[in-house]
Amino acid sequence: MAIATVNPATGETVETFTPYDDAAVEQRLALAEDAFTAFRLTSFDERAALLRRAADRLDADQEEIARTMTIEMGKPIGAARAEVAKCAKAMRWYADRAPGLLADEHPEAADVADSGASSVLVRYRPLGVVLAVMPWNFPLWQVVRFAAPALMAGNVGLLKHASNVPRTALALERVFREAGYPRGCFQTLLIGSKAVEGVIRDRRVAAVTLTGSEGAGRSVAAVAGDEVKKSVLELGGSDPFVVLPSADVAAAVKCAVTARVQNNGQSCIAAKRFIVHAEVYAAFTAAFADRMRELRVGDPLAEETEVGPLATRQGRADIEELVADAVARGAVAECGGARPEGLDDGWFYLPTVLTGVTPQMRIHHEEAFGPVATVYRAESLDEAVALANDTPFGLSSNVWTSDAAEQERCIRDIEAGGVFFNGMTASHPAFPFGGVKRSGYGRELSEHGIREFCNVTTVWRA
Ligand code: NDP
Repeated sequence: MAIATVNPATGETVETFTPYDDAAVEQRLALAEDAFTAFRLTSFDERAALLRRAADRLDADQEEIARTMTIEMGKPIGAARAEVAKCAKAMRWYADRAPGLLADEHPEAADVADSGASSVLVRYRPLGVVLAVMPWNFPLWQVVRFAAPALMAGNVGLLKHASNVPRTALALERVFREAGYPRGCFQTLLIGSKAVEGVIRDRRVAAVTLTGSEGAGRSVAAVAGDEVKKSVLELGGSDPFVVLPSADVAAAVKCAVTARVQNNGQSCIAAKRFIVHAEVYAAFTAAFADRMRELRVGDPLAEETEVGPLATRQGRADIEELVADAVARGAVAECGGARPEGLDDGWFYLPTVLTGVTPQMRIHHEEAFGPVATVYRAESLDEAVALANDTPFGLSSNVWTSDAAEQERCIRDIEAGGVFFNGMTASHPAFPFGGVKRSGYGRELSEHGIREFCNVTTVWRA
């Protein structure tokens, strides 16, 4: 895949980039190693001051960076601005909290005595140069979610961003540089995915984190495993959105629409499978299809647009194939199921609601990375939970019920890294984020995220 900015709303190639050659990659690896040698010795106060300045830069450049993202991958401009603001907030959160999250830990006195020590402590030390392989869907947030904690822990970062968002990748490198970070603390590598293996195998790289597809995750984790290097994987999701009889159905419908079409339907934590109890199925499904039909699809730079184009031509082709396969096997498109009229240049697709989905259809098992919802009817809570788990993925989940016993049952039995009641899944710097099953392993954000790339060191004194 060429490294290029191609506007998905128009199909126009705006700028192409020459990938870095071996010498350019070598230069940046050497710089990263040098940078870590000094950066690991900085204090939390110094790191926090730098990260706060980076947050200030994001605030100052919000409009410019938001437009860059929208032009590269098509998210509505309002959502792009919100993404920049969220990144600045996460930077400040880690600047404030990292010293506490990584403070020395002191085991119980009885355990210290039992080990024969006079004292024991646990210290979180940085690992070194961490490679981040990142996707285009939240081109700023996915990176900052890694970079803010990694830098606060004293690591340095190398970013291999998706090939269709080079301008955003370079903008973030500039943000860190202008914030005053020493050279080499955060660098973008303009390389294709084939060059990733060599970087992971390089002795100067300590660990790797990837957000993206299952296939990319499998390749990266295989190489990291072969090198015995730490890896964190945040892969796809096909999150259930379960609606039970005690739910406020009108509120659930409103939330369901947002949860499905956020980011033009291209979010790992978007609700994708709507599992609705028979008692409320008819009311939910009719209102959901009505609202999905009413969404304004169009130019993502226009303030009123609610759903922009898919990020790539291939992404739209993938979604079209999934819907065609389902409809050929008997699913019904309650709305959408086609490209919108009059938007022929870009990679647009109408918000779509499919009913009558069965396990014989690809969409039942695969992640639909576009504005396409599947709605299932469940006769009982048992059946709803079974359907929720009938997926290779396990990122997060959403359940609408006001019944405390039903909530406990879902917490116990839904196979996912999150259970959100009467609302939609969203990430927050303070809460762990990540999945089980084919959604990956490890956690981002919170104290769990910042400790992933630390050397958790036991210090024992006789
Ligand atoms: P990919 O997983 O292919 O891309 C994510 C990142 O991984 C990019 O930087 C990409 O680089 C890189 N990459 C891809 N293959 C490899 C590899 N073999 N070794 C090393 N790095 C690799 O996502 P796509 O854009 O192709 O999207 C495909 C599907 O992935 C989507 O339809 C969706 O299902 C899922 N996805 C999930 C995301 C999530 O947030 N969970 C985000 C994006 C995609 P390059 O761009 O150069 O290929």
